[in-house]
Amino acid sequence: MRLTVVGCSGSVPGPASPASCYLIEATDDAGKTWRIALDMGSGSLGALQRYCDPRQLDAVAITHLHPDHCADLAALHVYLKHHPDGPTTVPVYAPFGASGRIDQLRGASSHSDVLTPIVWQASGEARIGPVLLTCEAVTHPVPAYALRIEGPSSKPTRASAVIAYSGDTDVCDGLEVAAAGADLFVCEATYLSTDDHDRGVHLTGADAGATAESAGVEHLLLTHIPPWTDCANVLAEAVGTYAGKTTLAHPGQHFEV
Ligand SMILES: [Zn+2]
Ligand SMILES: [Zn+2]
Repeated sequence: MRLTVVGCSGSVPGPASPASCYLIEATDDAGKTWRIALDMGSGSLGALQRYCDPRQLDAVAITHLHPDHCADLAALHVYLKHHPDGPTTVPVYAPFGASGRIDQLRGASSHSDVLTPIVWQASGEARIGPVLLTCEAVTHPVPAYALRIEGPSSKPTRASAVIAYSGDTDVCDGLEVAAAGADLFVCEATYLSTDDHDRGVHLTGADAGATAESAGVEHLLLTHIPPWTDCANVLAEAVGTYAGKTTLAHPGQHFEV
């Protein structure tokens, strides 16, 4: 299973990256490669086309309905609906309210006929080819989910691997459940401990590291850092609370697990 960082800028797009979007690719026993986009934040549809034709997506999984995680569903609708080769339908796993949110983003009064929302239930599962997605409710000002993605391992010595993605959250039990023992933990680290920040919204670098440590993950990928924050300071916080491998996310990175 492979994860590509399509966009990783926190809260808004940055000069070098779209907002949140990650591409999961997993190949089944018959040789078919399945593709799932995790979040479609502002600006991500353009960058996604570097890695696949968006019509090749088998599903989109949205953690929550803030624009830095879902705004480009409107652009994806246009791509899928008006491509000259004809329309393509893609299921969108998303929190309750996604259908209306997509209409709102499109400025439309009728539902998209190419994006078909399927509402997440807490601790619910979705099977997409060889991949099992599980969502866990997390702490954020709107309904939000962390995702646990289990699929075939790229390593010949192992049958399966786990990628966990925090979405946006503060420290909470759901995040720990989603991340437990993950091979790759893609975790937001929006704040610094020295910031004057609200609780119940985002993690600091130190929080992300502490969660990675207690969840026993193999590799922590720090993401969702806003353009106004120095990534080096976030990394320094995380390595102070987590002893394992820690990396800053950049667009275009590929991770095989
Ligand atoms: Zn966000
Ligand atoms: Zn958010």
